[in-house]
Amino acid sequence: MPTMTETIEEIVELWRLKGLFDDDRVKTKMKEMKTNMLPDGSMVGHFPKWTCVIDENGYTCSCPDHQYRGTKCKHLGALAKSIKDSWDKEFGGDDDKNG
Ligand SMILES: [Zn+2]
Repeated sequence: MPTMTETIEEIVELWRLKGLFDDDRVKTKMKEMKTNMLPDGSMVGHFPKWTCVIDENGYTCSCPDHQYRGTKCKHLGALAKSIKDSWDKEFGGDDDKNG
């Protein structure tokens, strides 16, 4: 079973490959989002219209994009990115290998 860290890394990586973290739509979504952590450690992103959840079992979003196409929608991208960013801030990340 993947850990939540792996799940988030997977989403972040997918979106990074698509280059969409530089997309204004994802940035806009990150600003609209309110993040919540549930007692069980699940991360919930509340958007004006949709809600998405990332936990140890995977990820889901209530938006049509995710429901119909099963794609990793921009909400999940925004949530994963914001969690990753806060982890990187907290734990320092791997960024200092470039000197
Ligand atoms: Zn969505």
